[in-house]
Amino acid sequence: MNKISIKLAAFFLGIILFFSLLSFVAVMFLSRQVDEEIARDQRELAMTIQALRSQTSLSIEDIISVIIRSNYRLRPVGILDPTDLGLDTHQSLDDGGIVILHEGPFKGTSTVLHLGDSYVRIGMQPQYNIFQIWFSRLWTSFALYLLIAAALVVALTRKVVHPVLELTEATQEVAKGNFDIQIESSRNDEIGRLTDNFNLMVRQLRDIEYLRKDFISNVSHEIKTPLASIRGFAALLQNPGITEEERAEYSEVIVEEATRLANLSSTLLSLTKLENQERVETHTKFYLDEQIRHAVLVLEPHWSRKDLNFSIELQEVEIQANEELLQQVWLNLIGNAIKFSPEEAEIELCLTASGSHAEVVVRDHGMGISRENLPRIFEKFFQVESARSGEGSGLGLSLVKRIIDLQHGRVDVDSTPGKGTRFVVTLPLNCSHDSSTVPLPMSRKPQHRNPASLARGPV
Ligand code: ADP
Repeated sequence: MNKISIKLAAFFLGIILFFSLLSFVAVMFLSRQVDEEIARDQRELAMTIQALRSQTSLSIEDIISVIIRSNYRLRPVGILDPTDLGLDTHQSLDDGGIVILHEGPFKGTSTVLHLGDSYVRIGMQPQYNIFQIWFSRLWTSFALYLLIAAALVVALTRKVVHPVLELTEATQEVAKGNFDIQIESSRNDEIGRLTDNFNLMVRQLRDIEYLRKDFISNVSHEIKTPLASIRGFAALLQNPGITEEERAEYSEVIVEEATRLANLSSTLLSLTKLENQERVETHTKFYLDEQIRHAVLVLEPHWSRKDLNFSIELQEVEIQANEELLQQVWLNLIGNAIKFSPEEAEIELCLTASGSHAEVVVRDHGMGISRENLPRIFEKFFQVESARSGEGSGLGLSLVKRIIDLQHGRVDVDSTPGKGTRFVVTLPLNCSHDSSTVPLPMSRKPQHRNPASLARGPV
């Protein structure tokens, strides 16, 4: 019985049934008892009348006036219709007997007796009928039933209303911004489920609130550092005694920090925009292999500075997706691979297509990511401590994840500290289709190529 409606219906039906039964038993018992009492009373009266009649010379009218009773009406009856009473009854009357007539609950019980040449009928006073007798004896029970029923109804109503009141109070607390509130409930009905959902909602609101505060503090932190650096170097520039060399160096730092700020704000804007979007335009058809080559070429200043080698295996794959956003994905992943690789290391890029999906693997042999940090790298502003001082802001992989999600793909990562990291991006060849069966990434061995060969591919 999990539904309140069923519980209430069962409860009220139970009350009705219980009290109906109780009333029925009481009435049955009482009506028989009352009937017997009345018959006994009337028989005694009849016998008194007979005795008075036989032992005194009083007329019937005198006898009636002597033994008058408030609840019985005594009437002399001249002639009785034998068919009224039945012949047997009539005969026993004529033999001097007393006859008790049970005439149903409305007419009640009456007694007829034969006195000489006439009859006397003892009946109930019209204003003193059996219902009044019942009521006079039952009203205490009725009052008791009513009291018990009212107490039960009040108890049940309180049981139903109490959690609703609790929920109302808790909702008001949440409206005031208190997200620590939780309501205890062990119920398994609609109210129990409502309470569970309320608790869940409050927990989620608390998480959102926590994320919001965390986000603001992260943004402030990321802005504060370059701003402090710009202010410091700008102040140094104001010093008239500095050399030309120092002036150039300080200006360069200011330009770098300003660029970092500009990058941060544009990445943040892109991420916020994408997070508020449910879908992106995915109508453009283009070659994924060309796009990846282009990303490598764009990053040339970075990898050539470190003298890195690329091992590239790119199958020709045409894809329908958002070209601009995907370009951002490769720039971030390959950019990270470059950033976290030691000098002269190798980076592997592999693109394959099977069935309706394409798979891109970006693998480096750099510092790797520890087990405890690995699940957090897609969080906004997350940076491994050793990477904090670098040029990143911890937003790149969040952006990657959001872009891939919006195009119904997936991104997986595995990493071994000190040995390197492998990112696997799986995308539907037509990203406008939601594909719930994106296959799990496969591992394969890439062929080695020289970065110089990239230039030959169409860019
Ligand atoms: P950032 O802009 O700081 O690189 P990301 O969101 O791109 O931010 O990456 C978050 C963190 O994940 C980085 O600070 C780094 O610690 C770690 N990370 C990402 N890619 C790699 C990689 N290829 N090798 C090692 N660590 C990585």
